[in-house]
This record gives sequence, C-alpha cells and structure tokens, in this order.
Amino acid sequence: MSLQILNTLTRTQQEIIPRGGLGHTLSLYTCGPTVYSYAHIGNFRAYVFEDLLQRHLQTRGFIVRRVMNITDVDDKTIRGAVAAGISLAEFTQPFKEAFFADAQTLRLLRAESYPEATDPVQIARMMSMITTLMERGHAYQAEDGSVYFRIASFPNYGKLARVDLEGQRPGQRVASDEYEKEAVADFALWKSWVPEDGGVGWESPWGKGRPGWHIECSAMATGLLGETIDIHCGGVDNIFPHHEAEIAQCECAGHGVAPFVRYWMHCAHLMVEGSKMAKSQGNFYTLRDLLAQGWTGREVRYALISVHYRASLNFTREGLGAARTALARLDAWFLRLTEAAAESATSDPPDQSIEGFFTALDDDLNISGALAVLFETVRESNRMMDQGMLTPAQARGLLEWYGRVNGVLALEPDQSADQLPVEVQQLLDDRAAARSAKEWKKSDELRDQLAALGWLLKDTKDGQRISKS
Ligand code: AMP
Ligand code: ZN
Repeated sequence: MSLQILNTLTRTQQEIIPRGGLGHTLSLYTCGPTVYSYAHIGNFRAYVFEDLLQRHLQTRGFIVRRVMNITDVDDKTIRGAVAAGISLAEFTQPFKEAFFADAQTLRLLRAESYPEATDPVQIARMMSMITTLMERGHAYQAEDGSVYFRIASFPNYGKLARVDLEGQRPGQRVASDEYEKEAVADFALWKSWVPEDGGVGWESPWGKGRPGWHIECSAMATGLLGETIDIHCGGVDNIFPHHEAEIAQCECAGHGVAPFVRYWMHCAHLMVEGSKMAKSQGNFYTLRDLLAQGWTGREVRYALISVHYRASLNFTREGLGAARTALARLDAWFLRLTEAAAESATSDPPDQSIEGFFTALDDDLNISGALAVLFETVRESNRMMDQGMLTPAQARGLLEWYGRVNGVLALEPDQSADQLPVEVQQLLDDRAAARSAKEWKKSDELRDQLAALGWLLKDTKDGQRISKS
C-alpha cells in the first residue's frame, strides 16, 4: 500500500508523491513556535505529530527536507518585550532556547533549518513579497499606514477553510494576527509602527513598521523550500486565518502556475476538560511543569503520540499514567527479548503480519492500528517465551523489527545524559533569562552553581550547551 494522508484542502485521502515524483525530495513546512513564553504541551502535540510524520516518511524511504519557522516578532512578542522593558531579541532568546531544549526532551528530529522572522534576510524577503503583491493589485496601503491584502482580488480565498465569502463586507480590515473564523476581512501584511511597539520596527517603502504573522510564514516557507511545497502542517487552529492567508499571499506573489502547497495536514487540539489547551485560557501545562511533577519526556511523548493526530486528545494524569504503564511493558519485553536473543548471531524474519505496524501508519498515520500490532506482538512473543518456544534467532528477528518500529516511535529508555535533572534545567533557564537581561554577575554565579553540580557549560551561538564535567 502507498503512504496516504488526509489532505485538508481536498478533504480526501491521497497518496503522498513528491512534486518531482517518487524518489525525489519531499519538502515539509511546519509552523513553529511563537516565542513569547514557553511552548505548552498543546503546541507540542502538533510538533510530536509532525515528528511522527517525518519519521514514518523517512522509514518509507522519502528524503524529507523540513523547515520550521520561529515566530520571533508578532503582536504577542512585542507586547511581552515592551512590558518587560527589554529589547525584542532579549525577550525572545530564553524562549527560543527553551523550545529547543524541550524539543530534544521530546525526541523531536531536528528540522533542516529554523528560520527566524527577524532575520534581515527574511525581513527583506517579506518586503519583496509585499512589493510584488502591491504591484499586482493584491495589496494596498490604508490610511493607517498599514498595508493590507485585498482578499476580493483572490477568488480562491477561503478554499482551504471553506469559509463563505458571501455576505462579506468589502473594505473590512483586521490588523490583528489572529481573528475569528467568521471574520473574512483584508488582513495586514505590513503593520505601521505605533508607539506601543516601542523600539520594534523596520524601515520600509511603506514607512516604519513590521510584518504581519502570515507574511512571515509565506516568505520563510517559499524562500527556503521553493514556490511549491509538498506538505504543510500545523494545528487545526492554523487553518483560518493563518494558512488561508499564506495561500493567498504565496499564490498571488508567485509565478501563478503551481499551488503553494500540495498536501495540507492539521492535527486536532489537545484539550483540557473540554476546552482547547491555550495560553489565553490559562489551562495549559508546559513540559517543564510535567517534568517537575516527575513525568519524563518519553512519557509525555508517548501520551501525545498514541492518539490519532486528527482525534482530539483530552490531556489527563490518567493518560500519562497509562503511558508509563505501556512503556514499562515495552521495556520489560525488550529486555527479555534481548536476553533471549543473546545466544544467536543470526535472525529469523518474523511473521510478515507484523509489518502491519508500518502499513497502519501508511493509512493516514493510523497510530492506534500500529500500536495494536506492536502490543499484540509483545503479548504473543511473551507467551512464546513463557513456553520456551521462541528461538534465539526468532528473538533476534523481532528485535530487528522493533529497531525499525522504534525508529518511528522513539520510545527507548532514557539515557541518563539526554534527560536533564529538573534543578539543572531550572538553573539553565534562570541563566538564559539573566543573560538576556545582561545580568552577567548572576549569569556567572549560575554557571558556578552548575559546575558545583558537575555540569560544564558552553555558550554557543545557538545558546547554552551543557555536558557532564
Ligand atoms: P503558536 O505558538 O500559538 O503559533 O502555535 C504553534 C503550533 O501549536 C501551531 O501549529 C498550533 O496550531 C499548535 N497548537 C496550539 N495550541 C494547540 C493545542 N491545544 N493542541 C494542539 N496544537 C496546538
Ligand atoms: Zn505559520
């Protein structure tokens, strides 16, 4: 069976074929974090789903080029920096570092690149896209100095979210990055500077200002992956307005032949007691909160990965408890199987039926089907070991299969080095905050405290790197 996914654009299940044909590179763009605070595990549900997708694609032989952006300028980051009385870069830096640390704790594969919206190269590209949109009549500068996308100029607007353009009031405009699904309105491409923006702003042909969130992703995605991207992912809340706006911008500023994205994939929300986990609701947990409560990164990964990405997932302690139980079962089985295989250098291929793990994932990442095959295999081989019926060569064959399975799931037990103790992570976070506030003395003291605990720190251009001394 071919690898198929449900495309949000067509609402149908489709085989994934790279633009250049099978065997060619597959481009994947995933909307990344807005670094105005720690990402919550709802955000990480989206990233874990994207990680499962990337790993399964690679297991199936696709050559994946993935880009994930970092939104380090938008309404929320500016508000945060101004409130803290520090520069935007100082404000966002600790949250960037925290994001990468959390991603590592959750075992997310690294993307090929993580472009940042404030990078001068990216800002220049955003401006050039806006210029093209204005030249082609798709954008205009309003009395408030901001530049807006004219949605009436793009008949396909609404095709992804299937929002109804009927009854839309022409000339309605929104400057905010996020707005309600019903609001079909011209959205800001370039927001003219206002005093509340403090020191944040770039000179442009339309005066001092800053880019809108949607144009940031459009510019970074097409700048790094080309005018047509194979797969673009995010959470369902990204469909409208964010992804709809990305389509409008890219298809109007591009060469007009190919679609911006060939396959759209969106994961459902992580819920808490019936509501979406969101910072604005105050009902969120960060990964740090959970680690401090004694859960591990791999337990959280399991809890997030084990429910199909399009099913809404209610986040509960029972869910984490179930993850812990499932992992203990896998660990015990793996150990037993390793002992059983010790005497054999050769392996017998297992029954073909257990390839069902991978064929389930081929079917729109059917993780429930895949885990059912895994746990049925655990049950059956445990039974055979109980009865002394599993040969060492069969055990080795199963271990090899599990190696491939784990290449997708990444659930192996923690190596002590890849899980930082909570107090060490806290000291690292405090030091990152001290450094952005230019509190060098405090930063040095924190380094000394880490050294006293046996950890060696190095400051690199990507942030702090820590190792056991
Ligand atoms: P943001 O930092 O708000 O731009 O969100 C980053 C990613 O997390 C986006 O792809 C969102 O769609 C996704 N996201 C936000 N909240 C949730 C949630 N509760 N469950 C799943 N994904 C979410
Ligand atoms: Zn985006």
